[in-house]
Amino acid sequence: MRLCLLALVAVGLNGPKDAHAAKGEGYFGLRPARSAPATRVEVQQDESAFTLENGEPIAGFRLGDAPEGPLKNQAERMVRLIRDEFHRDASRVPIHILNASQMDRLTRQLGGHTGFRWEIYGMHYRGHIFIRPGLTILSDEVLLHELIHEMSARFAAESRGFSHLVEGLAQHYTSKILASELDKKATKRIYVRYREFAEVLESIVGGDRLRALFFAEKGDPLQELKMRVDQVRGNLLPAAAALEKDRFNDALRLLSAK
Ligand SMILES: [Zn+2]
Repeated sequence: MRLCLLALVAVGLNGPKDAHAAKGEGYFGLRPARSAPATRVEVQQDESAFTLENGEPIAGFRLGDAPEGPLKNQAERMVRLIRDEFHRDASRVPIHILNASQMDRLTRQLGGHTGFRWEIYGMHYRGHIFIRPGLTILSDEVLLHELIHEMSARFAAESRGFSHLVEGLAQHYTSKILASELDKKATKRIYVRYREFAEVLESIVGGDRLRALFFAEKGDPLQELKMRVDQVRGNLLPAAAALEKDRFNDALRLLSAK
């Protein structure tokens, strides 16, 4: 089974200004394990329980059963937004709220590592979402981004390792919802170039079609997307491969080759 290890990273408050320049597009080294995963964690998709390798349980709740208070309001808003926008049900997704040290341990256990002064605020792994509160509450942006990973898990599973393509699309839809439904702006520094790629992709295949493919529940959506792109204009797979290597200009050129 392909591990789905995708995360949204944000630079710590004291992070260097040029962090993205120094580290490419902000992909922070938590990559899908190519061979044996570093963890033997066994997770059942239909359980909200998650246990670390050392046996330590990480408490969780399903999004639709969030505890009363601000968290419940936020959860209900997310379920509604995702239902309205993507016609998918996010209420069953298990959410685990972690502190910084738990997030750090989990990241290492799953074989990831973070760069200097980089902090992980959210992670999507095998149907579960792990999230760290911001200063006071969970960030709408991080929660949405990770939920979108879960709602688009089929696309990711068929994405042939093109994690930057997946991140760009996930953040593309995150920022759309933030802007149109929550009247907020996406964090400027997250996956900027990957998002740009997603925008060009959308202009080629059309908003409705791209959305239907990214949130498809069955089939091989990447293959369908490739057929559509290649028919209309470019050469999707080589473009996505260039994006994966952070060769942005090549990626955009290949996407619009014809
Ligand atoms: Zn992500």
